[in-house]
Parts: sequence; structure tokens; C-alpha cells
Amino acid sequence: MIIECDVLVVGAGPAGSSAARAAAKTGTNTIFVDKKKQIGIPVQCAETIGEYLIPYLPFKIPEEQLIWRTDGISFWAEGITIERSGGLWSSYAINREKIDKWLANNAIGAGAKLYLETELIDLEFNENYHVTKAIVKTGAGIREIKPKVVIAADGVHSKVLNKLGFTNLKDKCGEVVSFEMDNLNLYKPTYEQLYIGDFAPGAYAYIFPLSKSRANVGVASLFQTKKLERCYAEFLEIPKVKKQLRNGEKVVEKSGWAPIHYLADKWVYGNVLLVGDAANQNFKPFVEGILPAIICGDIAGKTAYNFITERNLLGDYQSCIKDKLGELFLESDHLLDILYELGKSLDKKEHLVRLGLFANVFSLKEITKLNFEDYNALKRRLADRDSSEII
Ligand SMILES: Cc1cc2nc3c(=O)[nH]c(=O)nc-3n(C[C@H](O)[C@H](O)[C@H](O)COP(=O)(O)OP(=O)(O)OC[C@H]3O[C@@H](n4cnc5c(N)ncnc54)[C@H](O)[C@@H]3O)c2cc1C
Repeated sequence: MIIECDVLVVGAGPAGSSAARAAAKTGTNTIFVDKKKQIGIPVQCAETIGEYLIPYLPFKIPEEQLIWRTDGISFWAEGITIERSGGLWSSYAINREKIDKWLANNAIGAGAKLYLETELIDLEFNENYHVTKAIVKTGAGIREIKPKVVIAADGVHSKVLNKLGFTNLKDKCGEVVSFEMDNLNLYKPTYEQLYIGDFAPGAYAYIFPLSKSRANVGVASLFQTKKLERCYAEFLEIPKVKKQLRNGEKVVEKSGWAPIHYLADKWVYGNVLLVGDAANQNFKPFVEGILPAIICGDIAGKTAYNFITERNLLGDYQSCIKDKLGELFLESDHLLDILYELGKSLDKKEHLVRLGLFANVFSLKEITKLNFEDYNALKRRLADRDSSEII
């Protein structure tokens, strides 16, 4: 049996559900498929969203989805703690399973048809990347889908990208080991905590509160220099961390992979639009991908409708995103290049430079000058902002 549709969305995470909702709302015949049995499980996320991105959303997130508010972030490296609060630094914790389910239900409510336990396994396309047929594996056997537009929202290990010829995607990603932990003695539950050091090669470790005594605790790595489990153990040995986590109990694992570099050269190939993690649509340095996935998913769904009704070209997708989030992506790309180079270094001075950049004490313009300063000089500059005595 061949299923025909206007829009096939592969993946029902934040990007896919948002795209399916936007496409279905216009009246296009939209199908979204996910290989999972249940939306949102397993959670592979630290479950925090920046408040500054909320105004960009195409729809309101209900208050009950915002389970915990944090006013600021405390950054740590080489024994120095710098706190920032308000504006860019305030966030909400969310329950990723619940929000993913809510987003998928919105898409269904708008008229999109969801097929779970349906895995995209192959694509047939012509030389211009125009997909003519998608092959999916379901519990009832192999099915073929003939879409006019494919929206690839299948995440960091995207099968769509793989079928379009992009391989070795893991080389462009970072790995995160993360656990939800309970029974913690958080020194400031309304602050997120971010740690830079050798325990998180090229990246950072975090404690992101979910309540007064519960948090997602994780370690990310960009370079596979040592096993992440060892990195996690080293992170837990930092006295400031140990004090808070001493009685901690692991509740559930939420580890996964996140894109760091672009996985492909463009966001549009033939009749395929890439969105969310498959398009590396997240903001560095924190690799925030949930809200950008929802915002870009909405644009992808609307672009698909405009293309099908011959109002516009799919190429408009990139320019619409640029209009909405262009400045943020530019800044993020620029910061990534610098952070990546710094992160490769084994010199502890680089921890201090990254601390200053993360906490916005140093500006990107200063970076060349900072290279000439030694470890002690940098530490003295940052020590002025140190708030370590608060614990
Ligand atoms: C440990 C960790 C912590 C993170 N913490 C945060 C955070 O705190 N805040 C934040 O903003 N971002 C965070 N991120 C990033 C964020 O989770 C992603 O950017 C976001 O999930 C991207 O959404 P998406 O819809 O593109 O992809 P996903 O959420 O990965 O959804 C992709 C969907 O596609 C499905 N799929 C995959 N392949 C197929 C196939 N072949 N056929 C059918 N279905 C398929 C999958 O089952 C999945 O449901 C974190 C990432 C990790 C790994």
C-alpha cells in the first residue's frame, strides 16, 4: 500500500511536532512519523529553556509546563565562581516528556496524522535530492509514502541526512552523560550551575535545578580524550559539587548526543527541509536546541505549505529563519569557532578564558588580547567578580 501526502515529517520531537502542527494548520495533508513507541521517552535532555527565547515562539507554552524558574547562572572554573542573573541568564526547567507529548498533541489537534513505531529506513530521490518515495518500517511491515515535501526532524543521528549522503555525523557532535538526581543539597536552587575544566573536554558540566532538591546533573565532551564516565566521576569530586551531591540519588539517566557543527552544508536539499538537531539549529555556548527547534519547525511547516500551493520556493526557508533568528545564529556560530579552538587546548589558562566568555566578562573582540595574558593575570581579572564565598 502506498500512502500519499503533502508533507511527511520524520521525527516527532520538538522540531517535528512544531513543523507538523504548522503544516497541518494550513490544511495540507500532513503525516508525522516517529520510530519511538511513546513520544518523549526516553528523555535525553537537561530540560532547561532560556527565557529570552520565549518571545520568538509561534505559540504560548502553558504555565504548567514551566516547572521551575531559575533567575541566573553561576559559572565556575579554576576555583572562581561568577554569577550572572536576569535577562539572558534566566531560564525555566521543563519536563521534556510532558512538553514533547503536548507538542505532538497540538500537531494532532491541528489535523496532522501521527504514526508511532514507524521508522524511516530509506528514501528514493532523483539527482536533485527530490524525494519521490520514503520507505518506513512499521509493526505491520514495510510501507511506502509518497510526499510532496519531506521535513527531516529526525535529530542528531538523522537517517534522512544519512540517506542524502551525509555520513560520520557523530564526528560533528558532542556527547553528554546526564542523570536526574534527587536528594541534593543545592546551594542556590534558583541558579543553574555550569562548570568548565578538564572533566568536560572542550565543553562543560552542569547542575540544572528542577526543584529545591532535584536537578539534572551532566557532563558534556567535544573531544573523546577520555571516557565520559570517568569525566563524570572527576566532576563529582570538585569540592563545591561534592558538597551539594553528597547524598544525591540517581533517578533516571538522560544522556545523549548533541550537534555542535553543521551536519550538512544547507538546510534545504531538493524537496527536503532540515530542522532542529538535524540542521544543528541550536545556540552556543549552551547548545540550547529545544526552543530553536520549535521556532524553526514552525517556519518549516509554513514554508512547505507555501511551496505546495506554489506561493514560494523552499529556498525561502533559510531566509525566513535568518529574518527571525539570524543574529542569534551568527553570534552562536562565531562563538563556537572560538570556543572550539580554546576547548582543544590543554592549557588551564583556556578554562579561564572560556569562563570569562561564557559569563560575558570578556567580549569576543578581546580574544586576541587575552591570548597574550598569562594564567595569573587572567585569574586576577576574573577574581574581581568571584562570588565563591557565598557557599
Ligand atoms: C543530554 C542532552 C541535554 C540537552 N539539554 C538541553 C537543554 O537543557 N535545553 C535545550 O534547549 N536543549 C538541550 N539539548 C538539546 C535538545 O535536546 C535538542 O536540541 C532537541 O531535542 C532537538 O529537537 P529535535 O526535534 O530536532 O530532535 P529530537 O528531540 O532528537 O527528536 C527527533 C525525533 O526523531 C525520531 N527519529 C529519529 N530517527 C528516526 C527515523 N529514522 N524514523 C522515525 N523517527 C526517527 C526520534 O525518535 C525522535 O523522537 C540537550 C541534548 C542532550 C543530548
